[in-house]
Parts: sequence; structure tokens; C-alpha cells
Amino acid sequence: MSEVQDIIELAKRRGFFWPSYSIYGGVSGFYTYGPLGSLLKRNVIRSWADAYLSIGAIMVESPVVSPESVFRASGHLERFNDLIYECSRCGNRQKFESLLKEEEKGREFDQESAQGYVRERKLQCSSCRSDRITVKEYSLMFPLGKNDKAEERLYLRPETAQGIFLDFQLLLNQNRGKLPMIVIQTGGGFRNEVAPRNALVRLREFSMGEVEVFIDPETEPFRPDASYGEVHFLDNKGKVEMLSPFDASGKGVVRDPAMAYFIQRTHMLLVSLGVDPERLRFRQHLKSELAHYSSDCWDAEALMDGDWLEIVGIADRGTYDLKRHGDVSGTSMEVRDGERKFIPRVIEPAHGIDRIVMAIMAHSRKVTGRGYVVMSFRNGVAPYHVGIFPLFKKDGLAEIARELYRNYSSIDAACIYDESGSIGKRYARQDEAGTPYCITVDYETRNDKAVTVRERDTGKQVRISIEELTSVPILQNAKLAEKFSQ
Ligand code: AMP
Repeated sequence: MSEVQDIIELAKRRGFFWPSYSIYGGVSGFYTYGPLGSLLKRNVIRSWADAYLSIGAIMVESPVVSPESVFRASGHLERFNDLIYECSRCGNRQKFESLLKEEEKGREFDQESAQGYVRERKLQCSSCRSDRITVKEYSLMFPLGKNDKAEERLYLRPETAQGIFLDFQLLLNQNRGKLPMIVIQTGGGFRNEVAPRNALVRLREFSMGEVEVFIDPETEPFRPDASYGEVHFLDNKGKVEMLSPFDASGKGVVRDPAMAYFIQRTHMLLVSLGVDPERLRFRQHLKSELAHYSSDCWDAEALMDGDWLEIVGIADRGTYDLKRHGDVSGTSMEVRDGERKFIPRVIEPAHGIDRIVMAIMAHSRKVTGRGYVVMSFRNGVAPYHVGIFPLFKKDGLAEIARELYRNYSSIDAACIYDESGSIGKRYARQDEAGTPYCITVDYETRNDKAVTVRERDTGKQVRISIEELTSVPILQNAKLAEKFSQ
């Protein structure tokens, strides 16, 4: 099985995630997060938010449904399309790109030249091998019903960013009129993908963590740290370099120091979440790949099954969005600085939360010599903070363990109580769930008021008093990690 297929199998069996609506036959591109996955995802979102709130970001939550006028102005209605092919024999629809050879992937095509390419090479449908295939522009937008007042159609948002741009002036006011301003938003993004695939990799409804950084174009408030380590870069000319973001900026590999700074922050966040730095790179978009709103873009890509998968896109959106909304709505998007008036430029690190979850799972999966799976999630990212077990259900051990569970478990550090099966089986279950520590209440606990704590990655066990364990609730993992390093 491939790495991704292994994760999909584990995810379903252990309750990380599974296809939605299966009792009605399923709908491709929709997934439900189970008990383990929903905690894992929540921890990823919390770490993402922490990373930006700690540098002064403000947070916003705008609606998922927007009127047509928003996307007319933003250009999504006209230009947020994929080139696809459709087979008139079997009805199969796929991205046109899937017909291209690897070395041709960067080539620019419009509908006409793509159709010509298909004709010349006598290309066939991937499903039924017919050559009756037609190239089309396919909108990724999700239309809903009409808004009865304005007679305007409503759409699900394809990105959360527009909700930030529309309220730029209100947000700036909240930020006391100060730039740079960093606004973050997490929530659902909806894209009517023609070929959803690989579970969380290409969904129709997915979770985004977007960061819009508004910058006065006459200032340079963000620069990468000289002391930050090397990162794998691949530029749009195909050149691969291991450089610090600081040097990448100094040498002009990354044109804009702010872009290099946010590459550094993204790298730091992803590695802290458990993405393997050896399987992480930043790839610059080819001109033909750039979205209609961006002039430069670097994707953080994670290696899975030998393929590089985009997990975060860091785009230079310039003044495009604020200008468009300013012009179309007639609301000024300008900022005043004394006599000077200007429209800020925008850098946007857009995180695909589900793909990050997928990458963390793939990079955390280890198989022991005896064939057991251990998910070595980082503390703070793991769904469960600790597993709590009584050695046996009888003789009052279960009561002590349950009480420990009640005192210990919280939304910030969820725990799992388990009393079924042998202790070895319970450890193995928690290794697969990625729980970093397991606490066992045994007969001695009744006398010494201490428990045995086992560390997932080393199997090492230490004895810790209950009082010590529960004294600093939120920092429990840090405290436990300290114990194991002694
Ligand atoms: P974009 O605005 O296209 O750069 O998307 C931002 C991020 O969202 C990407 O880096 C992906 O990680 C994620 N993403 C985009 N499309 C999908 C999708 N169909 N399913 C899951 N994640 C997606």
C-alpha cells in the first residue's frame, strides 16, 4: 500500500476521518473527522492561530455565504476556473493537466490550444479510452440559491480571504489605524473540484487558515532572521537551493523580504507541527500557474509517496483585491499617512488545514520492528494528551483512574480513559492514536499515590506522584517531557 493509502486505512479504522454520507452512497470530496481526527485538526488550528496571534495578528470570522457581487469584483466568477476534459462517451471528467507529461506541466494552455493538443496527440479518456474528449473551462465556484431581496445569486466562498478584504477599513480601525496589520481567519473553503481525490488532499469542502498581511508599500517591516536555518527552495527556473530565508532574500531568490519572512514563519510552524523538514520544500509558481490575483507565489510542499503536495500557498496579492473592491463598491480602501494616501499591498500565507493534517499523519507514521504502527505526533498536536488506565478494573483501581481522568482531561489537553483488554493492547492502541504518554494506576498507587507513566516513543516508564502530575494542568506534557529527559 502507498503511504497515503496506509494513512487512509488507519484513519478510517481508528477514527481520524472517513468519507461522509456513506449510508446514502457517499459524495466525493466530503470527509468527516472522527474522534481522533477532530482533536488533531483542532490542535493544528490552535497552533496555527497561536503562531500568528503571538506576533500581533488579529482574528476575524466572516460568513461562509457571499453574494455574487463579491466574486464579480474579486474576479473569481470569471477566472476561478480549471481547464478540464470531458468524455462524451462515458461522462468522465478530469483536469486537463492530468493528460500532460511531467515535463510539460508548466506549459500555458487556453481552451483552444488545449483542444488542439488533445487532437494532435490523439489523447484518450483515462476511464474508457475513447478519443471523444472535449476541453472545457470549469468553474470551481459553488453556487447556491438566489438572495430574494437583491435578486442576486449567493455563493459559498472559495477562500476566506475576501471576508477580510471587504472589511479592511473596519479592521484597520480595530487595529488603531496601524500598519502593518496581520488579520487571520480560519473556516471552510468550498471549491467544486472536478476530480476530488486522496481523502483530505482534494476536497470540495475544506478548512483553511488564511493570513492577510497588509503592508505600507513604502516600508519594509518584515525581514527574515539572519540566524534561521536552511530551507529547501525550488525557484521557477527549476533551480534547487538549500538557503536560509535570509540568504534567499539577500540573493534575490525570493524577491520580497516580507515573502521570505513568511516563508520562514511557515517553515517554523510546519516543522513544529510535525512535518519532516527533510520532506518539505518551498516551490515558486511558474508564471502559468499563478492565480489571477497574484504576481508571485511560493508553495510549501510536503513529500508523500514520492509526490510533492502543496500544503500552504504564500501569495503576493499586491493591491489587487483592495483596489478591485474599492473600485467596484465605491468604498475607499485607502490609508492616510499625513498627506500621503495609498492602498496597502498584501502578502497572504494560505494554509490548507486538511492537507497539513494529512502531511503530519504521513510524516509521523512509524512501523516498529515487530510491525506495530506508532504515530509519533508532537506533544500539543496529538489528539490525546495522555491515556489513563487502571491496571485492573477491580479493587478500586478503576475509581482512582477515572478520577484522575476527570481532573486531568480538558478541551486543551484531551485525555482518553481505557480499561478494556490487556495493558499491552491498550498501549498499542494509544501508540496508533499517537498519544505521547500513558498513565497506569496499579496496586501500589493505593499506597504511594503515584502512577507509572510510559513514554510512547521510547517505551520508557517512570513513576510520578499524582500530586506532581496534576499540579500544572495546561503544561502537563511539557512537565512530563522534562521527567523523561532527567
Ligand atoms: P490556494 O488559495 O489555492 O493557494 O489554497 C490554499 C491552500 O488550501 C492550499 O495550499 C491547499 O493546502 C489547500 N487547498 C486548496 N484546494 C484544496 C482542496 N480542494 N482540498 C483540500 N485542500 C485544498
